[in-house]
Amino acid sequence: MNILVTGGAGFIGSALVRFLIEKTKHTVVNIDKLTYASNLRSLASVQGNSRYSFVHGDICNRELLDTIFDASQPELIMHLAAESHVDKSINASSDFIQTNIIGTYQLLEASRQYWDSLEGVKRKNFRFHHVSTDEVYGELGETGKFSENSRYQPSSPYSASKASSDHLVNAWHRTYGLPTIMTNCSNNYGPYQFPEKLIPLTILNALNGKKLPIYGQGQQIRDWLYVDDHVKALYAVARKGELGETYNIGGNQEKKNIEVVNLICDLLEELAPLKPQGVNNYHDLIECVEDRPGHDFRYAIDAGKISSALAWQPEENFESGLRKTVQWFLDNR
Ligand code: NAD
Repeated sequence: MNILVTGGAGFIGSALVRFLIEKTKHTVVNIDKLTYASNLRSLASVQGNSRYSFVHGDICNRELLDTIFDASQPELIMHLAAESHVDKSINASSDFIQTNIIGTYQLLEASRQYWDSLEGVKRKNFRFHHVSTDEVYGELGETGKFSENSRYQPSSPYSASKASSDHLVNAWHRTYGLPTIMTNCSNNYGPYQFPEKLIPLTILNALNGKKLPIYGQGQQIRDWLYVDDHVKALYAVARKGELGETYNIGGNQEKKNIEVVNLICDLLEELAPLKPQGVNNYHDLIECVEDRPGHDFRYAIDAGKISSALAWQPEENFESGLRKTVQWFLDNR
């Protein structure tokens, strides 16, 4: 297949591009605006590959999208480009509205125009895969899990912008028949994640002897998934999922934020015993700070649908994935 990936220089997008080039025979065009969250070095291993090409551009630019569609004739769109950090969306939401909502709209319209021009097998096989988050469902209490039928109740500007994009995708399927498919995934972690997110921020701060800030008392719960498991789920849904359907993806690995930070400190005590000056024990660096406004208490995913329909299961548990992640950050200081 010719696959157009958006946001392929980001954390999950780059893991997806590496997987597609290294583990399959597909051709990949990656369009990315190269915002602060991107890192082209995460794509060094695929850079010279003849099946890979990169376009530096904005998904809000419709003319550019049309040119890319014409030139690359994609059979599958995997849409990951987004502004993705909740804290940033609280302080400055404009880019989130632009990229996550308007950008998705422009991509849907470019896809629709292109798909309308196709005939026969090419038209039948075309797919638009929208990659989204479980945060669109809002927060859970102590019990229960999100299913594909959970009500949309986003809390932050980030999750509201992703919820908007999900609704646009579903409307383009229902109204225009565009062959779309959607996934909503829980919190990812792994190599190359930008150190604004909890896990890489904690690892790098600890290694530099800086405080490890944790919101409130760290009681919020997230369902963690190793990024390569997410990528395999995306690939399964993109190829074998049913059009018009949503698949929730999660690792069934719920952890309180404070547990996550403590586990990272345990791993660093073991793997990086030579500590920065003035640090006796990494755990001493943990510091509770004022809670994030509108902070969702708990996310948990029921991944029953993707596991029974597409036989997907995560390969890593949180302990094994976190060990790999900490080791990667140690090896790539
Ligand atoms: P990221 O912030 O690491 O990467 C996003 C990428 O998109 C960056 O390379 C950035 O340069 C690019 N981008 C931003 N605006 C763009 C624009 N206007 N045009 C083109 N490119 C643009 O994000 P991520 O963590 O890799 O997340 C990827 C997708 O997965 C997002 O849609 C996110 O909502 C979703 N998701 C993320 C998680 C998670 O835990 N990280 C969980 C579930 C779903």
